Amino acid sequence: MGRKRKGGGRIARVPLWLRWKPPEQIMAELEARAIPVPFSGCLIWLGDIGNTSGYPRAIINNRGWLVCRYVCEQTHGPLKPGQMALHSCDIPYCIAAEHLRPGTAIDNAQDMVKRRRCRRKRGFQTW
Ligand SMILES: [Zn+2]
Repeated sequence: MGRKRKGGGRIARVPLWLRWKPPEQIMAELEARAIPVPFSGCLIWLGDIGNTSGYPRAIINNRGWLVCRYVCEQTHGPLKPGQMALHSCDIPYCIAAEHLRPGTAIDNAQDMVKRRRCRRKRGFQTW
């Protein structure tokens, strides 16, 4: 299994390990790894970003998690099959609970069309 490394070194590559703690504490530690953005209310993840997914990730209770998904499940309950955590703010690095809601890939695509989201690249520069 060759793991491709592309464009490395953008962000710290050290995964965050969180184990056997109450969810509130895990949430607090996740939030401690992010910086709040004034006005938008976004919490921008500063930790590890998955090489392939491009989304914040952490290892929680020995399982790899997308941070957005974890936060969403803590806030709204477990995601159903086919559901994912959608961002109301369109920022993949945002882990603010208020900006995350469960939805399907189809919802997500419809959202994109609705908002005419057409960014050339997902990148930090747009905000
Ligand atoms: Zn946000």
